[in-house]
Amino acid sequence: SKSKQPPHFLLIPLMAQGHLIPMADLAKLLAENGGRVSLITTPQNTSRINSLLSHPNQSQIQVLHLQFPSQQQSGVPQGCENCDSLPSLSLLPKFLSATSLLCRATQDLFQQLSPRPSCVVSDMALPWTIKVAHKFNVPRLVFYSLSSLYLSSMANLRATGVIEKIMSASDSELIAMPNLPDKVEFTKPQIICTWDAEFMEWANETGKADQASYGIILNSFDALEPKYLEEFKKATGSDKVWCVGPVSLCNRDAADKAVRGNKAAIDEHECLKWLDRQQPGSVVYAALGSLCNVVAAQIIELGLALEASNRPFIWVIRQTEATKNELEKWLSESGFEERTKERGLVVRGWAPQVLILSHPAAGAFVTHCGWNSTIEGITAGVPMVTWPLFADQIFNEKLIVQLLKVGVSVGMEKSVMWGSEEEIGVQVKMEGIRGAIEKVMDGEGNKEMRRRVRDLAERAKAAMEEGGSSNLNLKLLIEDITHQTEVREA
Ligand code: UDP
Repeated sequence: SKSKQPPHFLLIPLMAQGHLIPMADLAKLLAENGGRVSLITTPQNTSRINSLLSHPNQSQIQVLHLQFPSQQQSGVPQGCENCDSLPSLSLLPKFLSATSLLCRATQDLFQQLSPRPSCVVSDMALPWTIKVAHKFNVPRLVFYSLSSLYLSSMANLRATGVIEKIMSASDSELIAMPNLPDKVEFTKPQIICTWDAEFMEWANETGKADQASYGIILNSFDALEPKYLEEFKKATGSDKVWCVGPVSLCNRDAADKAVRGNKAAIDEHECLKWLDRQQPGSVVYAALGSLCNVVAAQIIELGLALEASNRPFIWVIRQTEATKNELEKWLSESGFEERTKERGLVVRGWAPQVLILSHPAAGAFVTHCGWNSTIEGITAGVPMVTWPLFADQIFNEKLIVQLLKVGVSVGMEKSVMWGSEEEIGVQVKMEGIRGAIEKVMDGEGNKEMRRRVRDLAERAKAAMEEGGSSNLNLKLLIEDITHQTEVREA
């Protein structure tokens, strides 16, 4: 008989920071556990991928390059090969459909690979990758960096026809998600924020591709939201759902934690030195992800809230063409930086988020509740101030505040449609943000909240250790694919 070949995983990420980063971490985990990995990227994302993969097991991981479709073909502005460089969120659906133009090239690439990939591991946003898997008769696995609360809510919405009910509801009515173990309610404007015709078509495609897929990999751990994980497994009707996270925990030393795909706008050693000077649990870290464009006036409310909180803070300001000038003007003319320089650190651009969150000085995380940020906050045992902007972030806030009780909301009521012109306008005032920070840092019940999030952090770490649930799940997944490959080739 043939000697056992390690299975070869072909990873196809969506070129967006919140998707590339966990996919690169998954690549490292697969390689550490005996897998061979090929990961697809485009020229502009190469340096990010390479920095994400600077890791002992890199020799097991090969990076493959495809040309991103031209502006003429795709309608995406030239030079935007990553969602974080899109001038507006309204281009996101266009970006997603542009990726499907990579299907043929991916198939050609697959053909040339030796050893031949045993399976395709696709980002959740790329339904066309099912065609690659089908053409070569290999399983497709879908990688989701999403909460089980969101996934089970979406699955149940589709299955029960509640979507029609939502569409005909008034804006203020509270609508409960069907068949969930807890009462979880939203308003129509919160839920339907991204549901335009283009999105619905894409969601439909995605659903079909997932149904035709072999299994699902989740960036989560079994003990985080067990009831919702069960609910999601029930909805998929398959036991091939593997929680292998929090994947960010594969970055064990400071250098790995600091490098997260973009060059940080602050030197990691400076940042650590600054954190070392602060009291344990005292620093408020505020960052709203890599994708959503928030208007300058709203960002300024956040700055004012950090100032009014009277605590040490790290404030990450995402620089976009639309807001850069206005923010710089405000920062220099208002005297903000001068007034807060003793206790505040303003990061213009990319921050080493995981490094900051895992430092003992981190005391609270003002977050937009992107799933990666959410699970990174939990993993670090840092309670959260929640400020969701759109899509699954709204659900993640419910998980953090209502179900896990490890955070306090700033009170964002309306989310944004990605086709909207104004992106995220001013909705939350300084007082609301300051109040939520106060509750997390000092409020009644704050000790309990801290205890709960630290407990989850312990469980997250235990899951990723040798023999922990995520570690075992990953091994089972690799075994499963090895077995599949042997059966197919027998
Ligand atoms: N991130 C970072 N530095 C920043 C902003 C973001 O390292 O200044 C990382 C963050 O740690 C997370 C990812 O980028 O891993 C953002 O993903 P998330 O799902 O939280 O939000 P998105 O950007 O997709 O909205």
